Amino acid sequence: MTLHAHAPAGAERLRGECLTAGYDERPVVHEVDFRVPDGQVTMLLGPNGSGKSTLLKTLARTLAPAQGRVLLDGTAIHRSSTREIARKLGVLPQGPSAPEGVTVRELVALGRFPHQHLWRQWTREDERAVNDAMATANVAAFADRPIDDLSGGQRQRCWIAMILAQETDLILLDEPTTFLDLKVQVDLLELLVRLAHDNGRTLLVVLHDLNLAAAYADVLVMMRNGRIVHSGTPETVFTAGNLRTVFDLEANVIRDPHSGRLLCVPALSSPAASRRIETACAPA
Ligand code: ADP
Repeated sequence: MTLHAHAPAGAERLRGECLTAGYDERPVVHEVDFRVPDGQVTMLLGPNGSGKSTLLKTLARTLAPAQGRVLLDGTAIHRSSTREIARKLGVLPQGPSAPEGVTVRELVALGRFPHQHLWRQWTREDERAVNDAMATANVAAFADRPIDDLSGGQRQRCWIAMILAQETDLILLDEPTTFLDLKVQVDLLELLVRLAHDNGRTLLVVLHDLNLAAAYADVLVMMRNGRIVHSGTPETVFTAGNLRTVFDLEANVIRDPHSGRLLCVPALSSPAASRRIETACAPA
């Protein structure tokens, strides 16, 4: 597949212009300008309720903005057909649910819907895309098992496989690692980074884990009260000052001596916790 085939020179393929969006006339995202950088992993962070999902849904065309517009390859996304968009943009919402009894292979095959028409049913190309997606997401071993029988991490990889089978080069994911073991979260994030860096895909991911976001993002975007307040590389954005003003979190930002990555360590105000640490660190 040729990536970025439709990108106008010098412009990101997906961008929101002055987006105001919300529910029942109540805006929760306010006049947001947002460009999703091509071929990179952008992570969207912010406190609960700051509007991350709402912004993602607006960019994904699931929610119509009250004001502003989303442009995909220069065309207003809310004016395009679902199938047309789904050939370019894969979206994994928060906590997706599958029809009862559906197998892994059947779920992943749903990702091929934008490529099918009345006169073009299932083809070898669809079969190849489904097999490739299951192999990449490492779910081929349980292809014929019902989704409901799998663990949370396995199930999440199946959803990712479904998005991969769609073969879009833009992928938006809302909290794809929630409730997963740390090892499974890391595996998933490594997969997403490979998709961007090795396959030229563009990813926008809402993530709640600050340290994992700082470790894996090319670009970190921080939201608060429905507005983007910081955006840039983790080196520039992941600072103690920004964590304080965006998350009301007192934390030290330190560097992992092995990887050089930035990490935040919450400052402890509980005397009991501080005492435990002092005891643990005291010379023998
Ligand atoms: P985040 O993803 O940062 O946690 P959300 O975008 O989910 O934030 O929510 C922003 C605000 O919008 C919250 O106050 C939330 O209660 C509200 N909200 C989210 N989804 C809906 C909905 N479907 N209907 C009404 N209000 C909603």
